[in-house]
Amino acid sequence: MCGIIGVVGSPDALPILLEGLERLEYRGYDSAGVALHAADALWRARSADGTESVRHLIDTCRSAPTGTSGIGHTRWATHGAPGEANAHPHADCSATIALIHNGIIENHAELREELLARGHHFASATDTEVLAHRLEEFRAQGLDLAESLRSTLREVRGAFAVAVVDANEPDVIVAARRVSPLIVGTADGETYLASDVPAILDHCTRFFIVEDDQLVVLTPQGYTATTLDGDAVTLNELLVDWDLETAQKGGYEDFMSKEMAEQPDALRATLLNRVASNGDITFDEMRVSDEQLRRATKVTLVACGSSYHTALVAKYAIEKWARVAVDVDIASEYRYRDPIVSENDLVIGVSQSGETIDTFLAMAEAKRLGATVVAVTNVVDSSMARAADAVLYTRAGMEICVVATKSVVSQIVVLETLALRLAQLRGTLSPVEVSRLLSALQSVPEFVADVLAREDAVASIARELAATRDYFFLGRGVGFPTALEGALKLKEITYVHAEGYPGGELKHGPLALIEPGVVVVAILTDDALKEKLLSNIAEVKSRGATVLSVAHDGSLDVAAVSDYVIWVPATEALLSPLVDAVALQQFAYHVARGRGLNVDRPRNLAKTVTVE
Ligand code: GLU
Repeated sequence: MCGIIGVVGSPDALPILLEGLERLEYRGYDSAGVALHAADALWRARSADGTESVRHLIDTCRSAPTGTSGIGHTRWATHGAPGEANAHPHADCSATIALIHNGIIENHAELREELLARGHHFASATDTEVLAHRLEEFRAQGLDLAESLRSTLREVRGAFAVAVVDANEPDVIVAARRVSPLIVGTADGETYLASDVPAILDHCTRFFIVEDDQLVVLTPQGYTATTLDGDAVTLNELLVDWDLETAQKGGYEDFMSKEMAEQPDALRATLLNRVASNGDITFDEMRVSDEQLRRATKVTLVACGSSYHTALVAKYAIEKWARVAVDVDIASEYRYRDPIVSENDLVIGVSQSGETIDTFLAMAEAKRLGATVVAVTNVVDSSMARAADAVLYTRAGMEICVVATKSVVSQIVVLETLALRLAQLRGTLSPVEVSRLLSALQSVPEFVADVLAREDAVASIARELAATRDYFFLGRGVGFPTALEGALKLKEITYVHAEGYPGGELKHGPLALIEPGVVVVAILTDDALKEKLLSNIAEVKSRGATVLSVAHDGSLDVAAVSDYVIWVPATEALLSPLVDAVALQQFAYHVARGRGLNVDRPRNLAKTVTVE
């Protein structure tokens, strides 16, 4: 999820680009770079220094020439480590073209092979660089910049917001979009583009949205827009009356609601390009062999917090689909209890940041004891990604809010896709069943979008329960980790007491705490276990609890015994945590807002926990 910016026609483009990059840093900061049109040549500067990338780029640019147009990029790496060689803008072999990209080119490997065979030299490990070299070929055939980009993008699968400058076409930027966002801004004699409005808010009077498969040519006088087939189109205008802070949150009240809303896109990106044409599940970042995966006799997942809950969901999926025994361990406990590890064990560490110290150390211990170690993380080249034998990336984009939302659902889909790969390798599911489950996973982003669209109903329940001080979340089967996650989300941002339990466990102790005033949230979306949980509901209701159920649309039996129901679309049981967790995020969010709390900065908590 990189940030991109461009300007043509400014007396001094560089400060505009650098200020824009500072505002785009929230989209990633693995590296930053600019390319300027100055004196009929392209001047390029790049810097890769983590959170300091943009600041170092600003230092590097002190010796820059003055240019009237240029492009800038702040990177959140998906393919290739976050070093300077992989920083955008990328160039063609003759450094005549500079190109920036946000997104993923799915067929980059085959395009790269073809380009290498035709003699191109690659300077980076990114998926992006193929675009610069393919453009170079179309330019050499005499096509103009716009037609060259159109021809290039027609060959590409995946997601992109891409912008290109060419030393031979001063004061022109050509840009195009599929999936990744792109906005055009206009002002008197200057034209802009960016991933989002805040980056160019101060400079433009009007803003226009570039839609999927559209291409724009920017000149100081304005822009022209076409489809990727070359047919003229008119861009829709975006009416912007935001101040800067509102704009940075994309019009949302806070980062939590913005990131919750981004979940369908995060899931789509995470699921992109995971299935080869022969039906095999592939992870292009995976570095362990199929043989190592096939011979795993035990899988252990280590994680903390919300990632621990996604690991628990994975246990249900891996055991059911791949028939391998799975242990799930709290990372901070694992390494101090002298775990029994054999060399056929697969140990998977799960962490959004890839820096969680407890998980990192647990993985190091497993590796020392001889296991094959896999990291599941959202951050390319993070400590865990580097230390593991293999890594699987979620592609949720940067998460700013302290509480995890889009990273949670993205972890679940990656782990469930891995579960299906294990099933494929071990022959525990038929090819027909694997492809049925894969297409069910592919429709999860739509289900999550549907849940998000029902927010008002959840908000009104949250308002009615605003005074509640005690919650018990109950689930059975895979609803149990969902109950833990729902309770954790509520604790983190509302400071209300909440506990998650397996439904059957309540009568072994905690039932003593049930009395009028306590709210029991029951996760009833596993149809096979629903009846058992309905009995647990009867037990708490007869002791005076108020019952809020999460249930599939149309479940009249649930409505009959519940005081409140959050309705969600029906899914496969093992996919239900993906929709239920989203509904419970919304519930916690609205309880917190009702209490006037800052959801983005919960007290006592930090986004990345790097102390034991
Ligand atoms: N795939 C490109 C890279 O890794 C762009 C990343 C993104 O936009 O997330 O450099």
